[in-house]
Amino acid sequence: MLVQKFGGTSVKSVARIKNVASIIARAAKQDSVVAVVSAMGDTTDYLLKLARQVSDSPDRRELDALLATGEQISVALVAIALNELGTRAVSLTAAQLGITTESIHSAARIVDIDTDRIRRCLADGFTVVAAGFQGRTSQGDITTLGRGGSDTTAVALAAALGPSACDIFTDVSGVYTADPNIVPTARLLKEISYEEMLEMARVGARVLHPRAAELARKHRIPVRVRNTFDPDHEGTILKGADEMEIYRPVSGVTLDRDQARLAILKVPDRPGIAGEIFSALAGRRVSVDMIIQAFHEDRSVNDITFTVKRSDLDAARAALEGAASRTGAEGVLADEDVAKVSIVGAGLMDQPDVAARMFSTLGEAGINIKMISTSEIRISCIVSDKDAERAVRVVHDLFHLDAEA
Ligand code: ADP
Ligand code: ASP
Ligand code: MG
Repeated sequence: MLVQKFGGTSVKSVARIKNVASIIARAAKQDSVVAVVSAMGDTTDYLLKLARQVSDSPDRRELDALLATGEQISVALVAIALNELGTRAVSLTAAQLGITTESIHSAARIVDIDTDRIRRCLADGFTVVAAGFQGRTSQGDITTLGRGGSDTTAVALAAALGPSACDIFTDVSGVYTADPNIVPTARLLKEISYEEMLEMARVGARVLHPRAAELARKHRIPVRVRNTFDPDHEGTILKGADEMEIYRPVSGVTLDRDQARLAILKVPDRPGIAGEIFSALAGRRVSVDMIIQAFHEDRSVNDITFTVKRSDLDAARAALEGAASRTGAEGVLADEDVAKVSIVGAGLMDQPDVAARMFSTLGEAGINIKMISTSEIRISCIVSDKDAERAVRVVHDLFHLDAEA
């Protein structure tokens, strides 16, 4: 059993759909194949734009119903192309695949996959072409898994069907030390641990969705990231940290541009204040990332600064303005000119000088750091968006990530 996933750029045009069908047909000669497909090219962006032309805040249930149509087109076309090649194939949408999610629209998590129908199709000799990104609630409503969610569909199916192997086909040859479209000298990693991949995905390496990386780690799925345009290339394999052959302190540098910074100024310093502010944000379903609370000379007030996704900025600002007036805070500041540059590596915790070297290098390049946060295997800096790509390149150079480990 093999799950293969093809992203939007891989199925952007009729010619590319035929190319994808030939990759699937070849695999289907050896294995039972479930191919998960994304919407063609920028279809999802286009559908989102259409909805926004009709309403500033489209109803989330209807938005999911709309966005899911992108994948319904591409799976049918891929199945048609496979049948044309003589590989018997059926396309299945989420409801037909038996993918049940939570009843939360636009970022639903998969709760169950009933694989009966898929197994019957495979047993009857069909290749299954599965719609990525979509799910359905136990009530039968259409949901989506969040942008980039087809990766999650693929890894979840690999876990439910086996576990079986999962190949994520995209437009680059695997996971690199940095986005190869930003750092031309980025090096392809032959292998990466689940933990490092998860951390890189969380901080902007969009080559694999964080939820997919999380599921791969949980179920130990041998996920391979490969290139649709060079299908014989081995790509990058995800493995357990204990199986890794190569040790390296820093694996990669990532960039996340979907960031904004907010501050609530001079909030009274008393118990319960942070709870009140962050409950207001949670009430509007805004997730908060880095949080800094700075004290004033006048010890009775604090400033609280944090980052959110740029797409959540309006909701966050509204929540914060409400909290500011309730708590007697002085006001709210918003800054959209931010991006997050991070380094990720399993060896970071053993190397206390790494953070200092990263900050000094950014300083020498004239790049101002606005905020910092760290985890055991990550160091992140918020910088101005205009400096972001240069920051990624200087940090990549600093750790000689272009050289073989
Ligand atoms: P797909 O449509 O196949 O899901 P995505 O655009 O979501 O493709 O992901 C692939 C892109 O991820 C690449 O084109 C590359 O620009 C970007 N990327 C970011 N960081 C990395 C990285 N460390 N390694 C490889 N690709 C990366
Ligand atoms: N089509 C969806 C998106 O553009 C899902 C995906 O491509 O993974 O986000
Ligand atoms: Mg993607």
